[in-house]
Amino acid sequence: MAIIDAVERIRERIGEACNRSGRNRAEIQLMGVSKFQGIEQIEKVWQAGIRLFGESRVQEGVEKFTPFKQRHPETELHLIGSLQRNKVKAAVSLFEGIQSVDREALITELGNWTRQRDRPLGILLEFHTGEETKRGFSDEEQLYRATEKVLSYPGLVLRGLMTMAPYTDEEARIRAAFRSLVSARDKLASRFPSGDWSCLSMGMSQDFEIAIEEGSTLIRIGTALFEEQGP
Ligand SMILES: *Cc1c(COP(=O)(O)O)cnc(C)c1O
Repeated sequence: MAIIDAVERIRERIGEACNRSGRNRAEIQLMGVSKFQGIEQIEKVWQAGIRLFGESRVQEGVEKFTPFKQRHPETELHLIGSLQRNKVKAAVSLFEGIQSVDREALITELGNWTRQRDRPLGILLEFHTGEETKRGFSDEEQLYRATEKVLSYPGLVLRGLMTMAPYTDEEARIRAAFRSLVSARDKLASRFPSGDWSCLSMGMSQDFEIAIEEGSTLIRIGTALFEEQGP
């Protein structure tokens, strides 16, 4: 399948999942996860109308997207992989958003490096909901503290939460992971009502339809957009 058809197919499946679950299609953003992909492939996804991209490594993001964003200034690029302290400076100058904020020390670094920024850096707190690598904050108390910290820096703007569901065929476990993200968001929104909790980044190639049924507003799709799909 050509990339343009793959993008179209994902859009159809998003529409169908919305219809099944009574969701409004306009609430769901489609991110193209471009890690490991070359510029030509990324161009094709752009030509198909995708403007939001995700990279999991800072260095790879810098190499590919510094020239790409000069050609396509409307690009919005988010970091979705873990961020080491020595890469924070480079990350804040490339990315519009960081979805993988998973510890308080990282918030301090991000806050310090964004003081001079003209547009605040979008932040999603990553919540661990059962995925094997155990990335992310592991309980709601930690999320409360992280929220207070993000809100204290003028160069950071909180937008919501992100998670990865476990890699499994057991749909019930995937659903449970997504539900615990929604539940954490609801608790945070009542504790910090002035915050913006509108973004729930959950769902990947294998599980995005379940994620939409459970309330996702941003799905991160790599394989199903970029890889050859067979005949
Ligand atoms: C790689 C990756 C994705 C995309 O995964 P696919 O299964 O290829 O769609 C989404 N989110 C994160 C955090 C990733 O690392």
